[in-house]
Amino acid sequence: MQPPLFGAGGPWAESVALPRDVLGYVRRECPECHRLFKVKGTPLEGMLVFARLASQVTHANREEADWPEVVRFCPYCGFAATDERWFTAEQRAFLDKRGEVLEQELRFEQLAHVERTLSVNPGPTFLPVRPERLAATLAAEPNDMRVLPLFCCHEEIKVSEGWLGAVRCFFCGTEHELGAALLRDRLSRILS
Ligand SMILES: [Zn+2]
Ligand SMILES: [Zn+2]
Repeated sequence: MQPPLFGAGGPWAESVALPRDVLGYVRRECPECHRLFKVKGTPLEGMLVFARLASQVTHANREEADWPEVVRFCPYCGFAATDERWFTAEQRAFLDKRGEVLEQELRFEQLAHVERTLSVNPGPTFLPVRPERLAATLAAEPNDMRVLPLFCCHEEIKVSEGWLGAVRCFFCGTEHELGAALLRDRLSRILS
């Protein structure tokens, strides 16, 4: 069902979520080396999306978007950064654009409210202009990359098929020599 247009005077909810692949993984990008990997989508990711959107909106309730900062680690280069810094360039662009439009929609709704109550507020000096709804969405997430178990944290991540080096745990930073194990596995398959 389509939500009613903004300015119609009623509240509506819109769900903004990052696409997940068939195994439930969300794409992530290291802010340092810009390599891509994937982590399992969790409720936390919804909060990160909300915070990113709210950062574009002037009057958003910042307290609702704040929570304790948790440091994560790049599986490839080991770079450490807080939770909200692992969006891909595409995800950041999409969320920032959506947040910008949300800000315009909120402003329009405020003006439209004044316009609707003209009888008590004659002689307005403005004309509310309905903002364009954003048609763009993020592309569906393909089921790519290789699943790696992280025994340290009882978690799993997905890393690039071509990566053969050590892999760090995204959650605790522990280094795993999974690359060497995979290489041995591949060689033994080729040789057998
Ligand atoms: Zn990195
Ligand atoms: Zn770990």
